[in-house]
Amino acid sequence: MRRIPEAELLDIALRILAAEGAPPAEASRVARHLVDANLKGHDSHGVGMLETYASHARAGTLKPAAHGRTSSDAPPFLQVDGQRGHGQVVAHEATETAIARARASGACILAVRDAHHMGRIGTYGEMAAAAGLVAILVVNVVGHRGLVAPHGGAFGRLGTNPICIAVPGVDPATPFVLDMATSKVAVGKLRVAAARGEELPDGYALDGHGNPTRDPGVIWADPGGCVLPFGGHKGFGLGLAVDILAGALTGGDTLQPGHPRGPTIVNNLFGILVDPGRLGSLDRFGEEVGAILDYMRDCRPVDPGHPVLVAGEPERAAMAERRASGIPIDDGTWASLENAARILGLVTGLRTL
Ligand code: NAD
Repeated sequence: MRRIPEAELLDIALRILAAEGAPPAEASRVARHLVDANLKGHDSHGVGMLETYASHARAGTLKPAAHGRTSSDAPPFLQVDGQRGHGQVVAHEATETAIARARASGACILAVRDAHHMGRIGTYGEMAAAAGLVAILVVNVVGHRGLVAPHGGAFGRLGTNPICIAVPGVDPATPFVLDMATSKVAVGKLRVAAARGEELPDGYALDGHGNPTRDPGVIWADPGGCVLPFGGHKGFGLGLAVDILAGALTGGDTLQPGHPRGPTIVNNLFGILVDPGRLGSLDRFGEEVGAILDYMRDCRPVDPGHPVLVAGEPERAAMAERRASGIPIDDGTWASLENAARILGLVTGLRTL
């Protein structure tokens, strides 16, 4: 495990993305997103994704220079075709437009289809919250086989289909940002656990034969395993609802088996952005949100060493710590960065790229 300063990791990501074919502005958007995910403690959605992006770019299933194309802009609806561009670019720009529409008319219903991996969905919720908007965002994952079993099922049939609900804070620096996969764990966290040689807790994953396993490598084994939905039938229901909303309702694809698969990651996003001032007094909204979050935080913890947190706080704490001490990069993730460099023809040691 090494600790790498933010600026250095950003530079490494930029070089890999440039070699992959991303123009400077697009490379910069993606690199910033990935390093921010690392800073916020989500190594699953940080620079460890670059090797996958490099191989998809080489396979032509990721278009590093592509942007989203607005296919319909008729308030309250905004529909964007991601054209297989970097999801971080497509979703960022779509969210910017959706924010402008919601500020002008009170709400925006956003549909983004056929983008490559959008990364950490909380990023887009944070953008909306920073603009004073409430956002409900759901994203499905298609383009490869299902990695999450239906409740009671032995094999993967769904993506990890995240849900993000973001609410502006009374203090703009502290929004409520719930941002979670509907699986017990994001698949990227299995990649990180495998890279670190760690085992999964019981009850998280099944191997390719449908048997319980603690091996985080099962996803990449042959036959491939899967993870379980969080919260049993409830998480399964939410994950399936996300597949329908983000897949079918946006005009994109669900994970039904009639569509071509791999090697790629495709994200579709369905979102609702609302100006809270249109439904009542902004002051009262802010007071209510502040009061209920404080009520949670003030609850006496079972373990005095672990105070009650609300969504968004773990990410802010990780960011403060990692900005100060550097971003931990394990040997497996470092090797994957070197691999990305190799795939793209950038030889040897990243420090001398
Ligand atoms: P997680 O379990 O680490 O966190 C989920 C949420 O719980 C966060 O909002 C966090 O602030 C909150 N939280 C964490 N610990 C808490 C605590 N002790 N008390 C109160 N709240 C707490 O996240 P995850 O489910 O592993 O998802 C990780 C990331 O993966 C997310 O950013 C998600 O958007 C991303 N993701 C992306 C895709 C994609 O295809 N683009 C797919 C799946 C997941």
